[in-house]
Amino acid sequence: MSGTPIQYRDGRWVVPDTPIIPFIEGDGTGPDIWRASRRVFDAAVRKTSGGKRAVEWREVVAGEKAFKATGNWLPEETLDVIRAHRVAIKGPLTTPVGGGIRSLNVALRQLLDLYACVRPVRWFKGVPAPVKEPGKLNVMIYRENIEDVYAGIEFQAESKEANDLIARLEALGKKVRAGSAIGIKPMSRFGSQRLVVKAIRYAIDAGRPSVTLVHKGNIMKFTEGAFRDWGYEVAKTQFGDRTITEADAAGGTGGGGRVIIKDRIADSMFQQLLLRPAEYSVLATPNLNGDYLSDACAAQVGGLGLAPGGNVGDGYAVYEATHGTAPKYAGLDKINPGSVILSGAMMFEELGWSEVSRAIVAGIEGAIAAGRVTYDLARQMPGATEVSTSTFADAIIEHLA
Ligand code: NAP
Repeated sequence: MSGTPIQYRDGRWVVPDTPIIPFIEGDGTGPDIWRASRRVFDAAVRKTSGGKRAVEWREVVAGEKAFKATGNWLPEETLDVIRAHRVAIKGPLTTPVGGGIRSLNVALRQLLDLYACVRPVRWFKGVPAPVKEPGKLNVMIYRENIEDVYAGIEFQAESKEANDLIARLEALGKKVRAGSAIGIKPMSRFGSQRLVVKAIRYAIDAGRPSVTLVHKGNIMKFTEGAFRDWGYEVAKTQFGDRTITEADAAGGTGGGGRVIIKDRIADSMFQQLLLRPAEYSVLATPNLNGDYLSDACAAQVGGLGLAPGGNVGDGYAVYEATHGTAPKYAGLDKINPGSVILSGAMMFEELGWSEVSRAIVAGIEGAIAAGRVTYDLARQMPGATEVSTSTFADAIIEHLA
């Protein structure tokens, strides 16, 4: 079967039976993980469609592999192919040290305007976790992906630019210690609201009970505080009949089937997720809060080896491992491929192939329940058998629903 590109029309994906999906296998342990993941994806698509559907995977390069082949960490051709095919999946990439691109992942998100970083965090039965009841945490995190301190506007201490800005700030009546480094935190109504819209739309479509805006608006009133205000504003203007604020819901008869919009200050949110996880469902956060929160939540349910992620814009999406390249395990067929495999499940869900996504999740659940897991899980699961990356993929394939 020869493939056809996925299209995006009127806000919807148009997915052929044989979509072409570009992949970046990634550096370090990336090739081990990608080999295993691809087998799982192909088996799940074949099984759920009775052989009617198949993905044509098209390799594009980035990271070390690209640098060795082309002298460029992120070749323009890679971006062109992803743009043309709209949806891609990637393994972890080495961050180049010094000069040029500060992070390939950040560059990809900014160049393709993938403004929402989406991370589902849930517990898989049997996975060792540091809390007593990890199953109570089941959140979908929507993190703004482009703005905030990640916009990359920073000036070195004592540089001309930093000194000029300090002088300018002083003229505006703000005192900054001489010789300081300066970082800028831009946050816009446009950028914040399109993220919150995506989170609310997901909550409505998936029947989730609430969206919590997580901010540090008590301190940063005009950035983080505005994120909260813009969030409530867009909930009202765009989803007035489908949402209700927490305050209104408490004063009346509860949500009444509408999505409850609430907000929490970021530091308190870390406590809330540990102490009252069941009260949270969808989280919408500015960039930095979401970065911290995603990893903390992943740790709470058993670690990064099983934490998937997607970077989604309007008509473009790149799914990715949330962990790094773990270079010391490269080529050893040892590492847990779960993060890329579950990122693939997210991708198929987004494309409307929900049955593929469900099959993959059931496969992971089955492999874990059978106690056939990679070293990272096996070392904490009494009675489990440690298996290689590829054998873990075999176990997942055996348990595809
Ligand atoms: P890392 O690659 O995530 O690895 C740190 C440790 O986390 C590993 O030694 C391993 O712990 C555990 N780990 C990571 N992935 C795992 C998996 N799939 N299964 C089981 N355990 C896993 O972090 P790093 O060493 O700080 O970063 C290495 C490189 O990756 C750097 O160049 C960094 O910039 C880059 N990076 C890329 C991404 C990305 O592409 N999304 C994200 C983060 C970092 P044990 O040693 O305890 O087994």
